[in-house]
This record gives sequence, C-alpha cells and structure tokens, in this order.
Amino acid sequence: MTVQHGRRVDVIVVGGGLAGLAATQRLAAHGLSVALLEKRDRLGGSSAMSGGWFALSDTAIQRRAGVEDSAALFVADMVETGGGFADEGLLHRLAERQAHAVAAIDRAAAWTDELKVSAGMTVARAHLVRIRDLLAFLEHEAVTAGAAILPSHAADELVWDGTRVVGIRSENGDLDARAGVVLTTGGFSRSRELLELFVPDQATAMPYGGIGNAGDGLRMAWMLGAGLADIGHVSGTYGQHADTTDDEHELLTANYLGAILVNAHGERFADESESYKILGSAVLSQPGRMAFQVFDSVVRARSKPGVPLADMERIEELGHLASAPTIAALEHTLGIPAGRLEHTVGQYNESVSGRRADGFGRTGLVNGVGTLVPVEAAPFYAYPAVTAMTSTYGGLSVAPDTSVTRVDGRPINGLFAAGEVVGGFHGASYMTGTALTKALVFGLEAADAIARG
Ligand SMILES: Cc1cc2nc3c(=O)[nH]c(=O)nc-3n(C[C@H](O)[C@H](O)[C@H](O)COP(=O)(O)OP(=O)(O)OC[C@H]3O[C@@H](n4cnc5c(N)ncnc54)[C@H](O)[C@@H]3O)c2cc1C
Repeated sequence: MTVQHGRRVDVIVVGGGLAGLAATQRLAAHGLSVALLEKRDRLGGSSAMSGGWFALSDTAIQRRAGVEDSAALFVADMVETGGGFADEGLLHRLAERQAHAVAAIDRAAAWTDELKVSAGMTVARAHLVRIRDLLAFLEHEAVTAGAAILPSHAADELVWDGTRVVGIRSENGDLDARAGVVLTTGGFSRSRELLELFVPDQATAMPYGGIGNAGDGLRMAWMLGAGLADIGHVSGTYGQHADTTDDEHELLTANYLGAILVNAHGERFADESESYKILGSAVLSQPGRMAFQVFDSVVRARSKPGVPLADMERIEELGHLASAPTIAALEHTLGIPAGRLEHTVGQYNESVSGRRADGFGRTGLVNGVGTLVPVEAAPFYAYPAVTAMTSTYGGLSVAPDTSVTRVDGRPINGLFAAGEVVGGFHGASYMTGTALTKALVFGLEAADAIARG
C-alpha cells in the first residue's frame, strides 16, 4: 500500500520495534488499513539490539524442564520486584494476554530451548527467543496483510480535533487516522536531557538502546496532557564494557553464575544477586563508575556461548576478559592496590563456606536463588563493566487496554501506547525479559482494543 501526504488510514503506528510491528501485524490481520512510521532508515529499535529474553509463565518449555510456574506467581514476583509501585491492573492484563505473545512466537518458530532464572524471578522464567526472526516474521505478515511500512518517516506531533487524536504531523508527510494512533516509539535512553530531568543520578550511564529512542512519544503525548508512571525509578543496567559499539551489546552477568563484583579498589559494594538495575545504580556511585566481575575457572566453565548475558567466549574474543593464574596477579593486571582483592576474595570465600555472615547479605546466585561458589579455582578472570542505559522502563500512563490516560486518569480518545514508551508495569525495579514481553503482549492488545472499537 502506498501512502501519500495527507492520506487517511484507519490506524497509524509510530515506531517500528517489537511493539510497533506487533500492533501493525495484528491491525492488518483485523482488516484495518494501517501505516507504520519509523524515524530511522530501518526497523528494529532496541528490540533488534536486545538479548531476546522474554519473561513468560507456565509455558510448555517450563513444563518440559520441570519448572512449576503460574500467572499468579508471575504477578506476585512482579509486584515484589517493583517494590509495590507497579500497577496490578496492567500486570493482570499482561498475564491474561500472554497466550497471544506465545502464539506469535510459535507462528514465527522463534523459540530456543534456553530457560533460566534471572533478575526478579523466583523460578526459571526467562525464555530465550530469536528476536530478529520474530521481528522479521511480524514485518512479513504485516506487509502481506497490506500494511504500509514507512521508514525514515518521523512523527513530529499528534493532531487533536478537540475530541480525539485524528492523525500525526510529520516533515515527511502528514497522515490522518480514522480509528486511532498507537505510540510505540520506545523509551528515552538516548535523551540526556530527559534523563537529567527525571533521573539525574542515572544520566552518567552509558547511553545505549535504539539510536532513535529519544522520548518522542512521551513529548507528543504530554502535549495532550498524558500522565506518567514509574518514571523516577528508571535505572541503568550493569554489565556492559565501556567500549561496546551499537552493533553488538556486550552485556554479561557472570555474577548470576557465581562471580563477585569489586570496585577499582578491589572492594565489594553490593549483594551481587540483586537485579542488574539495582546493581547499575550502585556501580554509578563507585570510583570510575565501573566494577569488575571477578570469578574463577568453575564459573568460567558455566559460560554459554551465544546466550546473551552468559557468553564469556564472546567477551574474551573481543579482548575484554582479563585473566591471571593467581588473584595476586589478577589484581596487579587490573591496577588494584596490592593485597586488596586477595583480602576481599578471602572474606567472601569464608562467607560462602559459612564461617562468617556475608557483609552484603548475599545468599544466592540470583535473586536469592542458586548455591554460592567460592572464588578459588585458578585461573582467575575479571570483566570490567559499566552501567548502560539500555532501556527506560517508566513512561506514559495507560489503561489495561493500552489507551493513554491523562494526568487526571481520563483516556485521551484515539491515543494508544505500547512497549517501552509506557510505564506502570515495573515499579521500582525490573524483572529480566518483561520489557520484550510487555512490548509484544501490549502491541497486540492495542490492535485488539482498536479493532473492538
Ligand atoms: C542491549 C539491550 C538488551 C536488551 N535485552 C532485553 C532482553 O533480553 N529482554 C527484555 O525484555 N528487554 C531487553 N531490552 C529492552 C528491550 O529491548 C526494549 O525495552 C524493547 O525492545 C522495547 O520495544 P519497543 O517496541 O517499545 O521499542 P523499540 O524496539 O526501541 O522501537 C521503538 C522504535 O520507535 C522509533 N521511533 C522513535 N521515535 C519515533 C518517531 N518520532 N517517529 C517514528 N519512529 C520513532 C525508534 O527509532 C525505534 O525504531 C534490551 C535492550 C537493550 C538495548
């Protein structure tokens, strides 16, 4: 379908990551005419850069692995992780509609068998999906069903007719929308200005995520009085090398496999099993805003090549993993004052063996789950990592049907939002895999809500 300047479609979707592609595919499948606008010259956004972990409960993969999980436990873990700040109405809708996401991944044949426990989870719930296959599948289905996909077409402003949103303005051509506009513009990880406004203590994190993710959707919706949720809780993710390029992320959480984290003085500063968002904040206040993931050959052997967050081979290939035959040699290599790392490791090993209580309360590998291992089997390794602003999980306030709500809670007629541009799900912290799950579930939900009228 070609779309000319001033042309009218049923629905405009703004932003071509996972949420936008899911909404576009489903709208087209409902028989609605839809135009997907993408600011960059290619689709994908943060979704295409991501690790591909989806948090899902009570799946066939979990059942095969003997993991007992349920929608109720998923919601309870989210509420707990979010420190009571998450909107439970949104979480229940997420759990109710999860089947739509599972069906989309099924149709895309994008599952892998990888399943793990990660930040915020009490059971293994992070499912690794071939995210690029899923995105390509959704795009193909959307185009086949007649959707117009318009790259290099940034939306600049929403058009309000006095009662509802009826289109968008863009330098590349205005468009009218009969049934609604869906904002799927991602977060604001690339806007230093917005980070300084909302979370100034996080603004020094390494900017990451889709290069087009500058908070455009937030600004457009604010102009119409949209409310915000969770925005002050946004935090960077610990675990990326300072020299990482946009082409390939280098996130590693060896701490969830047994590593300890030490600062440039060789001192521990946190419970390493905490969420990498909480650790991200802690690392920003360490000297040089960095921390080493220090581990031994036992943890090194737990590496999973090709599996995001656990792939030490790739980090080594990139020349970013230091190693040494002894802890003393490692601390010398890292520039840590002599004896400090040896002392820290000695104390940690005593707490692992139960001879002393851990000074930071660490009792498990991740989120309190998993048996701790001492750092004792040579050779020894260290990965120097910083906090990266990969995603900003606070954003617009929405109702469970994805309609954007005003500061006073009333809906903004004709305006819907899904994905990272939306807040309310996570509260104070973040469970691994919930950003992609929410983008997929609520991209589809926005389409269904519009189709329901
Ligand atoms: C390195 C990395 C690893 C990650 N790993 C995971 C993971 O394993 N699991 C997980 O759950 N989450 C992960 N995340 C977070 C997750 O990827 C994102 O939250 C999610 O992909 C957001 O999807 P989205 O569709 O909302 O936005 P995006 O995929 O970012 O898409 C938004 C799109 O909107 C476009 N856009 C912006 N403004 C405009 C405009 N004005 N007009 C038109 N287009 C516009 C952008 O260019 C972009 O293409 C990761 C993020 C990163 C960066």
